[in-house]
Amino acid sequence: MFLDQTYLFTPGPTPIPNRVNAAMAQPMIGHRSPDFSVLIEDVANRLKPVFGTKHPVLALTSSGTSALEAAVVNTVSEGEDAVVIVAGSFGDRLATIAENYGVNVHRLNIEWGKSCTPEQLEAFLDGLASTSVKAVFATFNETSTGVLNPIGALGEVVARKSDALFVVDGVSCIGGVPVDMEKDHIDILVTSSQKALMLPPGLAFVAFSDRGLKAIRECPAKRFYLDLNRYVKAYEEQKSTPFTPAVSLIAGAKEVCSMIEEEGWENVIKRHYLLRDMLRAGIRELGLPLLTSDEDASPTVTAVKSGNIPAPDIQKALKKDFAITIAGGQKDLKGKIFRIGHMGYCTPFDILKVLTALELTLAKFGEEPKLGAAVKKAEEVWVQHV
Ligand SMILES: *Cc1c(COP(=O)(O)O)cnc(C)c1O
Repeated sequence: MFLDQTYLFTPGPTPIPNRVNAAMAQPMIGHRSPDFSVLIEDVANRLKPVFGTKHPVLALTSSGTSALEAAVVNTVSEGEDAVVIVAGSFGDRLATIAENYGVNVHRLNIEWGKSCTPEQLEAFLDGLASTSVKAVFATFNETSTGVLNPIGALGEVVARKSDALFVVDGVSCIGGVPVDMEKDHIDILVTSSQKALMLPPGLAFVAFSDRGLKAIRECPAKRFYLDLNRYVKAYEEQKSTPFTPAVSLIAGAKEVCSMIEEEGWENVIKRHYLLRDMLRAGIRELGLPLLTSDEDASPTVTAVKSGNIPAPDIQKALKKDFAITIAGGQKDLKGKIFRIGHMGYCTPFDILKVLTALELTLAKFGEEPKLGAAVKKAEEVWVQHV
């Protein structure tokens, strides 16, 4: 084996295409130069379809959590009421950030491994009818459980039942799923570079609606680096950023836009659903239970219950024997599940690789060998798309 050929299947960071690495290795440019203005404007506009927005997409230099924090501090203030849908550890993080800023958080707790249904949100908002809810926060794709929430249906409930803003953490799915901020009633939508956008960690992206922009402008909460007004102003007035950005990553983002356009945005989305369906078919054939139902299943990350073998043992074997890295479970799911990321720079062949390695690994652990069986099932899904 050539164990220097490594395979990264974590739900962030994700593999970087060679041409994106090459784009990031270009000579440095100043962030107050005309060259940078051309670059940032290009990226801000070409990311619009990926975020389903008509406004330019802003870039912050910081990790995804800073985008969550920005989404909080630019919409709600201390003492105001907000609803946070908590269906896993990232929903919990969003709620914790808001709580840290003194926001009066109403947690809508959803069983881990399930999506939040529009009915659940509606009943929860009905229960808060006498409270003035400033914003409803949701995790689009709960990375800890591999659940994609029905964001459009949730947005419809928010718009119909309240005047609240709808603020969405799209970190582990934007770049792999369809979204339309207007139709889905989303006011703020954030993501980060190292998930489905095929970039290294270091950038956070923020998109907003007209209403979201108005809320950012009017929000009185104290903030500095994460004050989105600074980013809007710097973009509008100078086609720049308020502080020195990760210029190389933005150059990489431009190349990512080219790759998405070459493949076709619709095809990028289709590929992510194909990867999901192939992987789920293969995992089922191995006899390992999937954490989520088909309806709730995320197109970017899949959580698998490890059956008789402890999940960390499977992870370790994949790493040692095949240089394949997958993720484990978080919090309550620690040790019980493993998670396979399939977002961004991931092809159907990559799914066959990870399934092959799982077939061999289960055989090694003494399970009845199913060599080729999972791969065959996955190929049967693939062949319908070729
Ligand atoms: C990865 C992730 C984040 C946090 O990103 P960091 O870059 O680690 O700060 C937030 N939300 C979701 C859903 C994620 O998957």
